[in-house]
Amino acid sequence: MVKTRALLKEVQKQIRADSEGYYPGSSLADWLARAKDTDLWRINVFAVADALAADRRRLLGTFLRLVRDGVLDLNWDFHCPTCNAVAGSHRHLSQATAEGHCALCGMDFRNDLAHNVEVTFGPSARLYSFDRGFPEQKKREMVRLYEEKKLTMPAVYVTGMDCLHVPLFREMFETETLSLRESLSISQVCIMFTDIKGSTALYDRLGDSAAYGLVRDHFDVLFRTVARNGGVVVKTIGDSVMASFLRPADGVAAAMAIQEAFEEFNRRENLRNEIVVKVGLHAGSTIMVNLNNRLDYFGQVVNMAARIQGTAEGGEIIISKAIRRDPEAVQRMRGRVRGLTRRLQTLKGISGTQETYRLEFGQSAARQPLTDIRRVKRTS
Ligand SMILES: [Zn+2]
Repeated sequence: MVKTRALLKEVQKQIRADSEGYYPGSSLADWLARAKDTDLWRINVFAVADALAADRRRLLGTFLRLVRDGVLDLNWDFHCPTCNAVAGSHRHLSQATAEGHCALCGMDFRNDLAHNVEVTFGPSARLYSFDRGFPEQKKREMVRLYEEKKLTMPAVYVTGMDCLHVPLFREMFETETLSLRESLSISQVCIMFTDIKGSTALYDRLGDSAAYGLVRDHFDVLFRTVARNGGVVVKTIGDSVMASFLRPADGVAAAMAIQEAFEEFNRRENLRNEIVVKVGLHAGSTIMVNLNNRLDYFGQVVNMAARIQGTAEGGEIIISKAIRRDPEAVQRMRGRVRGLTRRLQTLKGISGTQETYRLEFGQSAARQPLTDIRRVKRTS
């Protein structure tokens, strides 16, 4: 009991110091005050958010802050995809391996950050100790449920990908990366690339330092818009940005918001369209790796997203067939996109002819069903 109070006091201290950062402040402190061992054992943040009627992503951000502050610990729990048991649990992503093994059902499996990897939280041992025998009891309970074939995944849970898509994670846990030898599968991610139109001419016209200032401002606009739409910036490559999203719908929403933001930016800065960006989107399965000590994606989906971006003209958004076929993404475009121009083209380094679509959006997107408006054959 003494340690429970220590935990609560610590959290209240943090909340008092920064009521903006520790969302949703007092209701979280109340929840912690009432929490029992069973609530604090592998805390499922999304379930807590639902119980508190709080925003899931914002609450996840608060929990990440509390990990940074040493109040909570973060666990990467690896569930067996066959029986759902927690087959392994690590404190750091660097301990994760591509393959897992379940001691209960004897199965080997590949870990998927979008699926069987769950991120849970628990109180720091410095501040809280579970009743003697409680962890053993939880283990016995898992085995019993396994034997009764009643082990299930929670209805909602924080996946590894959910955690990696909170911008705070990349800011606060910069050293959290994979081992250099390992890669983790990701069954679904949406990758966006952007680039500035005619940046060489821009540097030529304005001179290096003025152009650089403008490019910095452009990064600010992009980073903000990506974060606001549920994405994270993976890296910048020159003037180009690579970002990822959990869902194609978020990527599409971000792409449209980016084009609008730059129209506004150019109006506000009283520039004659000095910053015009080209955007490309693709989605599919990929792997996560450690590149230059940072988490990065690797594979053909990434290459394809980059190539698709390469076919965009200034102010355009080009999407792949995978995005065009995503029902949620189509739903998000409805009412804002007049139509989609279907293009058949070959992309450098990618075999076969690829189907891509240009979003016709802006001014007068009528409330009509989304249709492909014409075919254009191109080779790049
Ligand atoms: Zn198993």
